[in-house]
Amino acid sequence: MGWLTDWRRKKVLEKHRMDEALWNAATRDFPFVKRNQNEKLKHLVLLFLAEKQFTGTHGLQVTDAMRVAIAAQACLPILELGLDWYSGWSGIVVYPGDFRVRRSEVDEDGVLHEWDDELAGEAMPGGPVVLSWDAAAHDPHINVVLHEFAHKLDMRDGAANGMPPLHPGMDGAAWHAAFTEAYEGFCDALERGKETWLDPYAAEHPAEFFAVVSEAFFQHPGETRRHYPDVYDQLKLFYRQDPS
Ligand SMILES: [Zn+2]
Repeated sequence: MGWLTDWRRKKVLEKHRMDEALWNAATRDFPFVKRNQNEKLKHLVLLFLAEKQFTGTHGLQVTDAMRVAIAAQACLPILELGLDWYSGWSGIVVYPGDFRVRRSEVDEDGVLHEWDDELAGEAMPGGPVVLSWDAAAHDPHINVVLHEFAHKLDMRDGAANGMPPLHPGMDGAAWHAAFTEAYEGFCDALERGKETWLDPYAAEHPAEFFAVVSEAFFQHPGETRRHYPDVYDQLKLFYRQDPS
């Protein structure tokens, strides 16, 4: 990133201040953000707003409150990592509600299958984050902003696989062991028809497990630590935060 980025960021922070009323209104419904009422998060949000481009689609007008609500949640995971973890792309596309995407796949017999997926969010490698505002604002079961931005961190070293690039000093084997045990236990419990604490969607893929458990880490840290102590420890090392 270098000195030019540092200089630009310094200028942004000299020229802009977070409007307290706007901040309070935008974060009112997100208690896990409100717990972090510090200047550091607000500064990071100002930089995020300066560097990312929000686009409303299908008639949605993205308001300042929406921008701040999304930015505040997106910046919490990188509070101790820095904004460069979200570098290399700039778009955030916001739909009024869930959106359909056309999928296709050629199977081993060469047959083309096509179907529609209904999504609350999507993170494209090297491209934008796409969000449903309805899901972001009203869905009590998922946090689509934390979820998609966790995918973005995971994608920093290629396709999302459930393991973002770890910091020097972190132990990849310990990460792998903690996540594999938790993921397999989770899939097993689901298969046996057990009630699971995390969203069953986490069983789709190790990358989804990482994104869903990251949501839980920030929203329900105490319970996450109780259910998955080893995963919690790894997330604590990766995010460099201990929300519990
Ligand atoms: Zn996902």
